[in-house]
Amino acid sequence: MAGKNDQKEIRYMIVLEDVCKAFGNTVAVDQVSLVIPDRARVAILGPSGSGKTTLLRLVAGLEMPDKGTISMGGHAVSGSDVFVPPSERRIGFVFQSGALWPHMTVAENILFAFNALPEGEQQRRLDLLLDRMAIPNLRDRYPDQISGGEARRVALARALAPRPEILLLDEPLTNLDHALREELLVLIAESAREEGSIMLYVTHDEHEAAIVADSTIRFKAGRVLE
Ligand code: ADP
Ligand code: MG
Repeated sequence: MAGKNDQKEIRYMIVLEDVCKAFGNTVAVDQVSLVIPDRARVAILGPSGSGKTTLLRLVAGLEMPDKGTISMGGHAVSGSDVFVPPSERRIGFVFQSGALWPHMTVAENILFAFNALPEGEQQRRLDLLLDRMAIPNLRDRYPDQISGGEARRVALARALAPRPEILLLDEPLTNLDHALREELLVLIAESAREEGSIMLYVTHDEHEAAIVADSTIRFKAGRVLE
C-alpha cells in the first residue's frame, strides 16, 4: 500500500477485502472488496434485499464478517483475529428509522453521543449543530413534540455530534415529502463536506444518490456491480 509520506492522505480511508456475511442460508454480502478514500461521499445504491444495510452494519461494527477484513485509517477493525467495537470506530450512524430516545429532549438526544468531549466543547458543539440543522428552537422539546422532518435533523445532528470520521446513513429520508427530502439532502451533503468525514449514504433512489454523493457503488444480490 502507500508509503510513509502518504500516511496522512490515507488516514481515514476504509478498505474492505473479500468481505462476506450470511444469515443462515441467505448470503447478504458476498465477497465485497472496496476502497473508499478519505472524505469521499459515496452513495450505495441497490434494490431492497441487496445487502446495503448489512454492508453499513459491517462497517459500523454492528455485524461481524464471516470472512474478509475491514480496515479504517490503516488499522484492521474487523477480521479473523480482530474486532474493534462500534464505540471505538469513530462512526456516526443515521438509521433508517431515525429513532430518537423518546424520554430525552432534543438537546439530550444530541448530547448523549458526546461522552468523549469536554463539557464546554459539548455545549459549543450542541449550539453549532442546532444552528446548522436550523432547529435551535427545538432544543428542549421531546421527540413526540416535533415533526418527522425535524426528527431527521435531530438524528443527523446526533450522528455528527462526536465528530465522526465516517458518517453512515441508511435511507435516512424515507417517508418524507419531496420538498423536505430535497432540503435535507443538501443539508446532509453540506454537513459531510464541512465535517470532512467520509459519508456512506444508502438509498434505492438514483436522484438522492446524484445529489448527495460524488460517487456511486451499485449493489445487487450482495455484490458490487461496478
Ligand atoms: P437492503 O438493506 O439492501 O435491503 P439487507 O442488508 O437488509 O438489504 O439484507 C440483505 C439480505 O440479508 C436480505 O435477504 C435480508 O433478508 C437478509 N438479512 C439481513 N439481516 C438479516 C438478519 N439479521 N437475519 C436474517 N436475515 C437477514
Ligand atoms: Mg436496508
